[in-house]
Amino acid sequence: MAAALIHDIVIVGGGTAGWMAALGLATVVGDRYRIRLVESDEIGTVGVGEATIPLIQRFNRIVGIDEHDFLRETGGTFKLAIEFVNWGRVGDRYMHGFGRVGQDLWTVGFEQYWHRMRLAGGARPLGDYAITQQAARANRFMPARPEPANSPLADIAYAYHFDAGRYARFLRKLAEARGVRRTEGRITHATRGESGDVDAVALASGERIGGELFIDCSGFRALLIEETLKTGFDDWSHWLPCDRALAVPCESTTPLTPYTRATAHRAGWQWRIPLQHRIGNGHVYCSRHVSDDEATATLLANLDGPPLADPRPLRFTAGMRRKTWHRNVVAIGLAGGFLEPLESTSIHLVQQTIQLLIDFFPDRGFSAADVDEFNAQSRFHWERIRDFIVLHYHVNQRDDSAFWRDCAHMAVPDTLRQKMALYKAHGRVTRFNSELFTETAWLQVMAGQNLLPDSFHPLAALQPEDSVHAYLEAVHRSVAASVVQMPDHADYIARHCAG
Ligand code: FAD
Repeated sequence: MAAALIHDIVIVGGGTAGWMAALGLATVVGDRYRIRLVESDEIGTVGVGEATIPLIQRFNRIVGIDEHDFLRETGGTFKLAIEFVNWGRVGDRYMHGFGRVGQDLWTVGFEQYWHRMRLAGGARPLGDYAITQQAARANRFMPARPEPANSPLADIAYAYHFDAGRYARFLRKLAEARGVRRTEGRITHATRGESGDVDAVALASGERIGGELFIDCSGFRALLIEETLKTGFDDWSHWLPCDRALAVPCESTTPLTPYTRATAHRAGWQWRIPLQHRIGNGHVYCSRHVSDDEATATLLANLDGPPLADPRPLRFTAGMRRKTWHRNVVAIGLAGGFLEPLESTSIHLVQQTIQLLIDFFPDRGFSAADVDEFNAQSRFHWERIRDFIVLHYHVNQRDDSAFWRDCAHMAVPDTLRQKMALYKAHGRVTRFNSELFTETAWLQVMAGQNLLPDSFHPLAALQPEDSVHAYLEAVHRSVAASVVQMPDHADYIARHCAG
C-alpha cells in the first residue's frame, strides 16, 4: 500500500537557496502542499552569489520569470563569459565563453581541426572562433537569433549577473504570491520524533513549526542537516585550499562588461561582477598563505572605482555533506556544501538540487532507494564541478608563490587525472552522462591555461591542410562579421531592462 502523502514542507532559511526552493516548489506542487519558510532578519543572508551560468534560464522559465523584469528588479546584467587573468602564467588572459566554439563541418569536432592547425602553426587563438568570447571582448550583447541556423548569432548562450539581496526579495514576492507562508524569527533548535526524523523547529519567540519534509537552507550553519542530524562533511580543502573571502561593492566607472572577471593573485583570486548600479568584487584566498590584512589590501588595490562599503569577511571549507538528503531533511545551498565561485556554480547547484527533489519527491514513507539515488546523483554533480574547479588551480605554470607551486604539484582526484590524460594524448574530452560542463568548457580552460595535447584525432588529418586552414578562417570571419551586428551591452540594457 502506498504511504500517506506529505502535507507540510518547512524551509529553513530565506537566502537565495531558501527562496529559490520556495518558489520552485510553490510553482510545481504548491497547490497540493503547505509550504512555510522561516528566516531570521537578525541573522541575515550571506548576500553574495551574483554570477550565474546559462541553465538559470531554465529555472526562470519553469517559475515564469520574465527576463527583462528580472534584470530590472535585480539591477542585473548579461554574462557571456568569464575572463581569467593570471591563471596559467602571470600576464596570461583567456576567456571561458558560454556555448560553442567554432562550427562543425567534417567528421570530427571543430577543436580537432584547431589542434591540427595549431600544431602546424596556422591557427588563431581559440577565442577568435567563438561568438560569445568575441562579443564579450567588444562589450556587445543580444540574445540568440535563431535564423539562419548556421550563423554564429544563433549560438549566443548567456547567463546573468544580479544583486543577491534584490534577487532574494524578488523571489520572495513571487513565492508569497503563490502561497508560501513566511515566518520571521530565530530558530533555537530542531526537535526529533521517535523515529529520529526532524518533526519541528522551535523559534526564540516560543513558536513551534512542525512538518513532514524539512528543507535546510540555513546557509553555512546547516542547522538541520548537520547541527541536528550530524550527517557529516567530506572536506575537499586538500584540493581547494582557499578558505576565506572578502566581499566589497565598488562604484562603476568603466563600460558595462558582459562578463565576469576572475583575476588570480598570490594565494587566491578576485572576482569582478558588473551590475547596473555597482560592481561586486571579492577576494577568495588561502589563509595559510596570505594574511587578512594583505588580502584586504590586494582587494582594495584592484577595484575599478571607490569602495561603497567596508570589505565583508566570509569563512568556508570546500566540500559537501556526506548526504545532502538524510532522513526527512534535504540540504540545499550552502547548508549542503561549498565550492568556491570560480565558475559561478553554487546557484546552479541550488537549482539542480531543487530539480532532483522534484524528481524524487517523497511520500511519508521516505523510500531508502529514492533517497540513495538522490544522494548518488547529487554527489555526481558536485564532484564533477569540483574537478573542473580544481583543474583551474592545478594547471598552472606560475613559480611566484608557494601557493601556486603546491597547486601545480598536488595529487588531483582520479576522475580529473583521467580526463587530463585523455585530453593530453589526442585532445579528446569526454562528458559523462549529464555532467554540467561541456567538452568546450573543458577545452577552453585547459587550452587557456596552456595545457595542450601532443597530437590530434587521426581523422582530422584526412582533409588537405589548406582546406582546413580555409575552413578555420571562414569560421573566424563569420564570427567577426556577426559581432559587429550586435548592440552595445549597456545600450541593450538601457533599452530593455534598466532599473
Ligand atoms: P544564506 O544566504 O546564508 O541564507 C541562510 C538563511 O538561513 C538566511 O535567511 C538566514 O537568516 C537563515 N538562518 C540561518 N540560521 C537561522 C536560524 N537559526 N533561524 C532562522 N533563520 C536562520 N554562487 C553563485 O552561483 N555565483 C557566485 O558568484 C557566488 N559567489 C559567492 C561568493 C562567496 C564568497 C560565497 C561565500 C558564496 C558565493 N556563491 C556564489 C554561493 C551563493 O552565495 C550561495 O549559494 C547562495 O547565496 C545561497 O546561500 P544560502 O541561501 O544557502 O545561504
